[in-house]
Amino acid sequence: MNRASIPATVSTDTYDERLASAQIETDAGRYQMATRLLDEAIAACPPAEYGRRAHALALLAHHYPRLGKLHASVRCASEALAICEAHGGDESVRADAMSALSYSYAQFLMGRDALEWGLRALAVARAAGNRRSEAWALNRVGVAYSSLDNQRQACETTSQALTIAKTLPDGAQALSFSCLNNLAYCWLYRVKEARRAGEPNSPALREALDQAQALSEQATLVAREAGNPFQVAVAVSNLVDALLHRQAFNEAEPLLAEFEALSQQNGYLSLELQAAAQRALIRMARGQVAGAIAELNSLLLRDHEGGLPPKLRRILIHALYEAHKACGEYREALGYLEQHIELERQIARDTQTLQNEIMQIRNEVDQAQARAETALQAAAHERERARHLETEQQQLRAQAMALDRAAHEDVLTGLHNRRHAEYALPLLVEGARQAGSQICMAMLDVDHFKQVNDRFGHGVGDAVLHQLAALLRSKMRGADLLARIGGEEFLVVMVGTTIDLALAICERLREAVAACDWEATAPGLAVRVSIGLAGDRPPPEARLLLDRADAALYAAKRGGRDRVHVDHDAVNPE
Ligand code: GH3
Ligand code: MG
Ligand code: MG
Repeated sequence: MNRASIPATVSTDTYDERLASAQIETDAGRYQMATRLLDEAIAACPPAEYGRRAHALALLAHHYPRLGKLHASVRCASEALAICEAHGGDESVRADAMSALSYSYAQFLMGRDALEWGLRALAVARAAGNRRSEAWALNRVGVAYSSLDNQRQACETTSQALTIAKTLPDGAQALSFSCLNNLAYCWLYRVKEARRAGEPNSPALREALDQAQALSEQATLVAREAGNPFQVAVAVSNLVDALLHRQAFNEAEPLLAEFEALSQQNGYLSLELQAAAQRALIRMARGQVAGAIAELNSLLLRDHEGGLPPKLRRILIHALYEAHKACGEYREALGYLEQHIELERQIARDTQTLQNEIMQIRNEVDQAQARAETALQAAAHERERARHLETEQQQLRAQAMALDRAAHEDVLTGLHNRRHAEYALPLLVEGARQAGSQICMAMLDVDHFKQVNDRFGHGVGDAVLHQLAALLRSKMRGADLLARIGGEEFLVVMVGTTIDLALAICERLREAVAACDWEATAPGLAVRVSIGLAGDRPPPEARLLLDRADAALYAAKRGGRDRVHVDHDAVNPE
């Protein structure tokens, strides 16, 4: 199925909902539907939801073999594993993906790989302390042993899985069934082994027969309780097999009819053919060899979609070989035997091809993952670089701002400096002109400041300048500009203030300076200031008004200091 083609909103809600629905479909044995829902869940899974994605992939890997899609299973399991390796997450999911991989390898007759992955899954599940995953891993290790023809070990491992399954609270139905069914299958295999060993009534054969029947009966019971048609069909087919080994034909026949009907209704082709082969066996045992042969032939000749797969063809060919042999038609029997051998060869060749394909899928997934990792790393690197550049830019901006501030700020007082005043003054004058406002400038100079330095030291001089600036700042809040333009010289610019108001403000300021507790700074210290004020309509050039303020200051000094002098007379030339 093409995942990209499924339109689905990307959200964890959709994902969770699809996953829950898939579980319901699984419980009802509707694996096709369950698989589709899981595919949709993956499509709805947001890309960074690695845990969820891996979980759904592991579930899909577990489902696909039931639909005969082993390649798809390997692909999903490999992808889930790759995600787990790259992003960590739930160890149980990792174990389940490994179990799924093990199962597919067993189906491809890659017993060693199957066993290796099964044992890895077991170790991971045990380390994670997840009993359900542990039981599934044991179950798959059992399947691996079975594919390696070690039925004894397979039985033992699967029994361990079953013991755990029985202790699990709920939802272990599929697991319990799988264990019982696999055990039944192993014991049926051991029946054949005991048969081949020759003794017709050996204790080993009797035990194998008893176990095969008892276990397939249990499996059937579990399947019937769950109402899962696929499980019923599989379990009953094993039970029929066990009964046929006992020659219990009458008992077998109704069961055979049941699972044959189930297989036909649900399209379980391999089980349907198995039923036909078993029916032929019963007929032959009852002496209806010709009828059995006719039925097998009709199935063989039936137009199967895309031709009958070799493994299924083999079931019918082998049954035909047995049938002809049973009625002494050795020439025909030989013909089918040859066909059977050729089919075996073909199956071996196909298996080889599949094995190669599987290795290629694993390789592809690993490479894709490696590429994704590289891309991720590159993206992370880029992000880091961008972050670095951003920080660098911020630092530069801050530095530029600091430099800008330093360029415009007086270090000692924190007021604007001369440079800023020169920059701002023309703009203020022009702004006032455009607004039709008046503009006043006050030049303030500390009286006899040289003496302050001389008497109290440069440090006290600095402290005076600092304190004076603070006073200016607090008294001249409405000022548009406050700047220290010389050693102990300050400029105040007020836009939209009448000269009378400005005079009042300057007077208040001068008084505040005189009233200040300078003794606290240095005993015997007193500070006075002179202020020259000029104000009018905005002059064509800022310099003109500044000069007038300067002249007024000079007048204040000349007039005896500690005073405000207003430049009343001068009139701006238009
Ligand atoms: P006047 O009343 O005529 O203004 O007399 P004055 O002594 O204040 O004027 P003058 O221009 O003679 O002296 C100014 C002094 O201010 C000289 C200089 O040492 C001092 N001065 C200039 N900048 C600073 C400074 O940043 N810190 C200190 N402590 N003193 C400064
Ligand atoms: Mg001075
Ligand atoms: Mg001065």
